[in-house]
Formats: sequence, structure tokens, C-alpha cells
Amino acid sequence: MKNIINFYNTLTRKVENFVPNTDGKVNMYTCGPTVYHFAHIGNLRSYIMEDVLEKTLRYVGYDVKRVMNITDVGHLSSDADTGEDKMLKGAKREHKTVMEIAKFYTDAFFSDMEKLNIKMPDVVEPATNCIDEFINMVSVLLEKGYAYIAGENVYFDTSKLQDYYVFSSQSEKELMVGVREDVEEDTNKKNKSDFVLWFTKSKFENQELKWDSPWGVGYPGWHIECSAISIKHLGEYMDIHCGGVDNIFPHHTNEIAQSEAFLGHKWCNYWFHVHHLNDKEGKMSKSKGEFLTVSLLEEKGYNPLVYRMFCLQSHYRKPLEFSFEVLDNMVNSYDKLTKAIGRLKDEGKIDIDVFNEYREKFEQALANDLNTSMSITIIYDLLKADTNDKTKLELIKSFDYVLSLGLTELAGKEEENSVDDELQAYIEAKIEERKAAKKEKDFAKADAIRNELMEKGIVLEDTREGTKWKRA
Ligand code: AMP
Ligand code: ZN
Repeated sequence: MKNIINFYNTLTRKVENFVPNTDGKVNMYTCGPTVYHFAHIGNLRSYIMEDVLEKTLRYVGYDVKRVMNITDVGHLSSDADTGEDKMLKGAKREHKTVMEIAKFYTDAFFSDMEKLNIKMPDVVEPATNCIDEFINMVSVLLEKGYAYIAGENVYFDTSKLQDYYVFSSQSEKELMVGVREDVEEDTNKKNKSDFVLWFTKSKFENQELKWDSPWGVGYPGWHIECSAISIKHLGEYMDIHCGGVDNIFPHHTNEIAQSEAFLGHKWCNYWFHVHHLNDKEGKMSKSKGEFLTVSLLEEKGYNPLVYRMFCLQSHYRKPLEFSFEVLDNMVNSYDKLTKAIGRLKDEGKIDIDVFNEYREKFEQALANDLNTSMSITIIYDLLKADTNDKTKLELIKSFDYVLSLGLTELAGKEEENSVDDELQAYIEAKIEERKAAKKEKDFAKADAIRNELMEKGIVLEDTREGTKWKRA
């Protein structure tokens, strides 16, 4: 029996206890990046929180298989199948081929993942590897009468479904938030919500990637990629499907429509969506031109793990506003925390009762709709707890399997005398103040300063080289 965890299921619009299809095993799918540009730190917020979900499941004892696609074809500028192919746009921008662009930005994405301690999913599959699977799925949908050919493209007929808008009771208009950028009517569609399964009539003469199909030379629609890739690797029943909230409509709505029409039964039980990272102007997006990347944060001197901590300090179901001021505060918190952990000595015997008590608290925080900021608070509580360093260190090592903040990297390396920058500055100011008081022959004040520091556990020693300090 695994520990029960709960999280918000977009499908039922409730926080629900998670029960997988197969006891002890979890099938999990993540919509991967469209590799026409660097991932921005907003995209990476989604991947960080999905990583924490996967690691929480593993931590409480599940055997997880996670699959992610790489979208290297078929994602048009608008999620509703209009506009230019994003990959082609990227290739033109950089005077390269689509495959060169795909390779470059896929590698860049993997490198960002590594810097942010995001675990590589068990399977990562580029869409261009799975053309046969897409063609098979589209053929079955045509045979079953869920799809039609118009204007030489193949469309999914959403009027064939009882409940196309499975995710929400919201109006169609509200759901159109996912349909961005240069939306134009496609007159081939029988219903406004129908979507392309296979394009043969490319609007772009220089569309580079095209494959033979029973319907002519063409390329797959974006939505079919995730359905076919997940079914290829995870089978007919999926436990958790993840993405950012902009994926809810139309992408995930269309994935459900075509997968369930293809399979003839319910496909995925839990839908986990991460809210957006915004900047002052609104949602961070690649199409805006200027956007923040991990490399840019590094160039400005930030440790990428500070950004991870910034994400973990807020709940995945709340929009998060990015600013450098908040990130600077996070730098201080991160430094203080890692230095405090760095002062722990790897000595003594683990106190099993305390170990179990804190592990349980940590699991409870994450099991409660992935309360990552609470899980970090538990570390602060643990640092103050009345137990030995070994117990604290081993607990933090185990928590860091999930949080992946590099928390124990300084363990044993911090000097006993090391303090955080704030305390250091405070001690130095007090030493200066005391020196001035002594010069004025105000010995009462000098003694008061010495006592004030003593109360904080800092002992002063007057030497020929000046006043030195150490911990009491
Ligand atoms: P894309 O590369 O555009 O296909 O997006 C990759 C992932 O990032 C998807 O799961 C999106 O839902 C997610 N995403 C896009 N913009 C943001 C944002 N500003 N904040 C958080 N996640 C986002
Ligand atoms: Zn997807």
C-alpha cells in the first residue's frame, strides 16, 4: 500500500486522491517543448512542477513510467491549426533547416533541464519518429467515422462526440483563450471546433518536412502527436497527463477527443495543469520575441537552482509573477538555507523516531495537492529541531530527492565560523561601533556591544591584529 497523494484533477475540477489503474504503477505523460526556440523560464516552471509531481510519486513508493514528446513538426502559430508552422518560422529566422533547428533547441532544452535538476523522462520521443503511428491513428478515426477529408486535409469531426468540452462547463468563448495569434477561419471545417489530424494541403510552399500518407504527401497535426506517442509507449490507459494551463484548450481537449474515439473507452483519469509564469506585461511567451531563458539568468549571475526554489515557493495552481527583485530575495534565502545545511556535521547516529516523524511531515505536505512551499518550511523547522546533525542531514538528503535544490552540496564544507551575509555585516558593524566607543572611552557602551553579540552566540577577542570573533 502506497501513501495516498492528492492533487487537482482538471477533468473533475476537484482535488482528488490519486488511484492509478495498476496498483503501485503510474503511467505519466508530459507535453514536451516545441523546439523552434529556447524554452523560456515560464515553460520551465511547468516542467519543474511536473518533475516534482513525478518525484513525489516515486518518493511515496510508486513505480513511475514517464513519457514526453518533442514537438518538431505540426505545431502552427495558433494552437487552432492556423498560421505558420512554428518550426519553419524558427528555421527561416536562423537560416537553417528545420531538422538543424530541432536538434539545436532539443539539446538546449535538455541542458536547461539538467541545470534545473529536472529528471529526464523515461522515454523522450520526437514527433518525426512516429509518422507511422500518426497515420495509423488517423486511418482508424476515418474508418470509425470520427474524421473527414476536406480541402485535402483530414479533420476530426467534433460533432460526433457527446461531450467535446470535457474539461469545463465554461463557454466555448472562454475556452478560446488557448487560440492565440492570427486566428483565421478555415472554411474546410464542418464545425468551428473541428481540428486537423493530417495536413496535405500545406499553405506553405516551402514546408520542409512532408511524408507520404494515404491522403497524399503531408504532415501531422500537433494534437495527434501526443495521443499517438503516449499510446505507443504507455498503452491504452493512462494515469496522469501533464501540461501548462494553456494546453487545456484546444490541445488536451482535442487529445481526449481523438484518443477516446480511437480507443473506444476512457483514456486518462487525471489531468495535472501548471499555471503560468507571468511577467509585468502578462503571460511569458516565446512569440513575444524577448523572453527570459535559463542561460540569460546564468549570464546575470543567478544559479538556476535559485529559480527552481522560486517556483517551489509558490503553488502550482496559482499564477506566478516573475521579477528580479523577488529572485534576488530568493538568492538570499537559498544562500542562507544551503549555508545552514552546510554547517551540519555528518556525525552521530540517526534518530529513527525523529527521522520518521519529519519524513512523514514532508510527505504529507507534498501529498496535500503538492504543497511545495510547505515542504520547504519543514526543512526550516527541522534545522531548528532538537536532534543531532546526522539525522537532519540524512532527512534533508532524502527530501532533496524530490525538491532537487542541491541542498546538501555544501554539507560539511561550511566552516563552523561561517555565517550568512546579513549576520556577517551585522557583526562587522558592531565591531566598528565598539571600536569607536572605546576610542571615545565609552567603555560601558563597548561592553554593552560585547554582551549584545554574546547573546547572539558571538564571542569577541581583542588581538594585536584587531578584534576577531568566533562562535560561542
Ligand atoms: P511549448 O514549447 O510552447 O509547446 O510549451 C511547453 C510547455 O510550457 C507547455 O506545457 C505549455 O503549456 C507550458 N507553458 C507555456 N507558457 C507558459 C508559461 N508562461 N508559464 C508556464 N508554463 C507555460
Ligand atoms: Zn501534448
